Amino acid sequence: MANLPVNKSAHPFDKARFETVLNRRFFYAPAFEIYGGVAGLYDYGPPGSSLQANIIAEWRKHFIVEEHMLEIDSTIMTPAPVFETSGHVARFADWMVKDAQTGDVLRADHLVKNVLEARLQGDKEARGQAAQPPPSEDDKKKKKKKEVKAAAVQLADEKVTEYETILAQLDNYSGPELGKLCRTHDIRNPDTGNEVTEPQQFNLMFTSSIGPTGQHPGYLRPETAQGHFLNFSRLLDFNNGRLPFASAQIGRSFRNEISPRAGLLRVREFTMAEIEHYVDPGDKSHARFGEVKEYELDLLDRHTQEAGSTQATRTTVGDAVARGVIANETLGYFLVRIAQFLLKIGVDPKRLRFRQHMQNEMAHYAADCWDADIHNSYGWTECVGCADRAAYDLTVHSNKTGHPLVVREALKESIVTERTVAEPNKKVMGKTFGKDFAAIAKVLEDLDEPSLEKLKADLEQGTGTVVGPDGRNFALTPEMLTIGRKTFKQSVREYTPNVIEPSFGLGRILYVLLEHNFWAREQDIERGVLSLPPVVAPTKVLIVPLSAKEDFQPLVREVSSKLRRAGVFSSVDDSNASIGRRYARNDELGTPFGVTIDFASIQKRTMTLRERDTTGQLIGDIDAVIALLVELVNGTASWAEACRRLPAYDGVQDVD
Ligand code: AMP
Repeated sequence: MANLPVNKSAHPFDKARFETVLNRRFFYAPAFEIYGGVAGLYDYGPPGSSLQANIIAEWRKHFIVEEHMLEIDSTIMTPAPVFETSGHVARFADWMVKDAQTGDVLRADHLVKNVLEARLQGDKEARGQAAQPPPSEDDKKKKKKKEVKAAAVQLADEKVTEYETILAQLDNYSGPELGKLCRTHDIRNPDTGNEVTEPQQFNLMFTSSIGPTGQHPGYLRPETAQGHFLNFSRLLDFNNGRLPFASAQIGRSFRNEISPRAGLLRVREFTMAEIEHYVDPGDKSHARFGEVKEYELDLLDRHTQEAGSTQATRTTVGDAVARGVIANETLGYFLVRIAQFLLKIGVDPKRLRFRQHMQNEMAHYAADCWDADIHNSYGWTECVGCADRAAYDLTVHSNKTGHPLVVREALKESIVTERTVAEPNKKVMGKTFGKDFAAIAKVLEDLDEPSLEKLKADLEQGTGTVVGPDGRNFALTPEMLTIGRKTFKQSVREYTPNVIEPSFGLGRILYVLLEHNFWAREQDIERGVLSLPPVVAPTKVLIVPLSAKEDFQPLVREVSSKLRRAGVFSSVDDSNASIGRRYARNDELGTPFGVTIDFASIQKRTMTLRERDTTGQLIGDIDAVIALLVELVNGTASWAEACRRLPAYDGVQDVD
């Protein structure tokens, strides 16, 4: 029994049950619920908070520690000029439409998506191809909710292709194009059947003001990135002036989403983990690319989508970079590291793909961008964005503030060049041109070689002319300047780095992780099991004394203190429910291991060890079980290995 493999996919995902468990066990819940709640704001309860903390801890290890990144913690409240310069005030917006009668607001691309997907579903049902979901107790509740559901109407084959093509390219449409789609395909507000207005842009940033006078407008940041860029010169200095390096930050971001309806997937306040990796624009190779180049990813590139398909292709990253599908090694390296992280914490590898942004879809700062999309009951959802932001942000902030956000690199060999230059005689020219001198000197400095050579020839004939910035001509004579060849030696190279940015939304990752790992045992369908990997499970070990009697307390204290000292987080359930029921309650919380302390423990110092997914049990000396648990939790031993080390326990657990 101990080694029985669990086929989780044999159990169809039951969303209603899943939501009931998450709610009942307080993974998370609508914030301000007793005041009626606010869409897009959620509070995490104890298991949700621990799960998030464990995901963050693993993220820190996987990225910050493994890649020697520089962690920062910058402010959320940001003065308006920062986002005016970064382009967010003008362009960080989504397209919204209004119901022409009720004024209800809808996000334009989501409206098109929901209506067309519902029509395609209706077509499948009419053709008898759709899987009928099993009726559940929550069906009645669901019917009350407003859902986009089209009648089972068969569409013409060309219509099906047309809709599928639109959906594949949806992220590429501009606002006016989305408006045209609504009119051409008679897309209306599904809640009311009313027509919708032309799409308008809606800026997603929350505004605020800093200080008592209201004179300093500010915004809650919609991403943590700008805090990295503004500190670039300090970070570079911290890194001894060397590139490449990366900064990392975990913190809250805020987006005033138009009409958030997808639970944790679209919220107005969320935790992000962002990396800004700074590279030489002329060399985007990565020192560790060799370690990942054979790694295979499911890639959905821009051309495939533009051709109307959403079929990803499994490709090694080495091949994708060599063929230019992924723009450079650094981007490819991070896509693999992102995939490795997601799989380590428990994302189903079959439901992960990397999708490239289409040209119009790209954020205003991006030169290339790939999303880690994870499939879940809402469809494919972007959970991590990985963009090449080029030199955009550092350049605009530097231009605005005059603070150089550049790298100065000593050249191994100085570069010697020879150029023709004009050297004004300040005394003579200053006397002749007065306040116009500075402008004329600047014009001379900017002249190209042929113009300088021509001016030189003119001066040799006695007089030359330059045109000032306001269009006036200024006559020059040979005593005013000399023009000749000069040698220049450059020993420092100065450049603005490019930035590769992996950006993680932790709430989305947490949610899909819960979905991917939720299932139910046939014999106990009402209770769920969350097969979270030990590394992220909120509690690692459940200690179950046979009863709350005093006799068991010394051993319970001993086991929990030994586990605590070994860094393993455990909890005790000494309620009077049966042992089987206590285990089942903790299967719902994702607790991977349980130990039972019974009379044999007192007499012989033995303890049983139970694994959540297989429900297999082993028995051994208390200290041997604790040592094994530490290894199981740290991932240095597998359950199969544990079964080789300790004998199976055949005692019957009563489950009610
Ligand atoms: P973006 O800057 O839009 O590429 O977003 C970066 C990441 O933040 C995404 O991959 C998501 O995981 C997350 N994210 C963005 N918007 C939201 C939202 N409204 N709710 C939850 N997560 C979000």
